[in-house]
Amino acid sequence: MNFDFTQQEQKLFKDINDAMLEMAGERTLEEKDPGNAGKTVREALIRLEKTSYLKLGTVQDKDIPGLCAMMGAMEIVSSFSQSLYLSVEMSTRLFGRIISTFGNKEQKNKWLSPVLGGKKLGAVALSEKSMNIDNDPMATTGVRENAVIKISGTKNYVINGLTADFTAVAGTIESKPAIFIVEKEATGLIPGKPLVTMGYDGLSVSGLTLDECRIKECDVIGPFEDNSAFNTLKMWENQILVGGSLGMMKASFESAKTYAKTHRTGGKPIIAYQEVAFKLAEMLTLLQTSQLFAYRVAWAAEAKNRESEVLTCCAKVFCTEAAERVSGSALQILSGEGYLSGNAAERAYRCAKYGQIAGTSTEIARVKIGNAALGA
Ligand SMILES: Cc1cc2nc3c(=O)[nH]c(=O)nc-3n(C[C@H](O)[C@H](O)[C@H](O)COP(=O)(O)OP(=O)(O)OC[C@H]3O[C@@H](n4cnc5c(N)ncnc54)[C@H](O)[C@@H]3O)c2cc1C
Repeated sequence: MNFDFTQQEQKLFKDINDAMLEMAGERTLEEKDPGNAGKTVREALIRLEKTSYLKLGTVQDKDIPGLCAMMGAMEIVSSFSQSLYLSVEMSTRLFGRIISTFGNKEQKNKWLSPVLGGKKLGAVALSEKSMNIDNDPMATTGVRENAVIKISGTKNYVINGLTADFTAVAGTIESKPAIFIVEKEATGLIPGKPLVTMGYDGLSVSGLTLDECRIKECDVIGPFEDNSAFNTLKMWENQILVGGSLGMMKASFESAKTYAKTHRTGGKPIIAYQEVAFKLAEMLTLLQTSQLFAYRVAWAAEAKNRESEVLTCCAKVFCTEAAERVSGSALQILSGEGYLSGNAAERAYRCAKYGQIAGTSTEIARVKIGNAALGA
């Protein structure tokens, strides 16, 4: 394992940072207006497309940096805006990776090129009403009728659900797992109302109903013989949540460090109080350890290590719990200033819990890690 970033990768990080900095300078990236969420993310996609960000993990090419650099790049975008990050990731690193890994040539031309070109937005509807796909078989079903597939089912929460041009809907056809690609205008696709969430102020999330939603046969990916494609999808989602946690920790730590050096009380900057300095020391240790863990997981996935799924679960548990702790400590240091809405630590603190709930939940991840340790 070599976690040094090459000059090319460092240049990519700088380009991504500059693109986000320019965008952040013009407006708030956490707009609470769901109508605006689609507009902001589309602009971010256009800016990020000028770097190789959208291609990381989705395009295999010697000129595109690998998965360790992908983690480093994810940290940068997430540190600017968790909402934009999640929206962009669901489109590229989840929808895009589904098409680039499982799609055929025509499907790649139709959906992958516009998504990676930053022109179209994707969404992924995997989990269903009050169920985690690790527990129950999916109820969303496609039925073949001549050359048309009619899909019926309900998805509870879909990021980009209201704004996406294409949605990858997980379900079954003839009792086998499959992914249906549904375009925005498809008959029978009914997005729900925008959902109000605890964190991610600028994110568009909604439910989705498919009422005999009609797609063509060529718009089906699969069917697959078993659930391994869905497990891979979960691993990618977990990687996204790991990368997101790094950005939350970075933004929280930087904000608390600056405040601790500049805010004075009792005649000295608060960093001079040992209790405050110790908090910063623990936050930096957690951030650094999480970064190393994230790179290790990326390296294992790149090397197609057969343990990479369970290693990703380990990293997800560690990094998402660390994000809650680091942003909580940052809030404590920022005190009154931090509690005010709009501060980086306050935003990260509200977002951090999501990382433990979504993807493979912390509880299910611990069960999987335990099973792997037992060789089950
Ligand atoms: C804001 C938001 C956006 C989302 N966006 C998307 C999206 O874009 N696409 C998508 O597909 N999904 C999305 N989701 C769904 C998300 O991934 C699920 O919420 C998540 O999988 C948890 O499912 P659940 O809420 O049904 O919890 P449940 O599965 O009902 O779990 C409830 C509790 O029981 C625990 N539990 C459940 N089963 C087990 C078990 N076997 N062993 C131990 N503990 C267990 C869980 O860990 C949890 O603590 C989103 C959710 C939210 C809140």
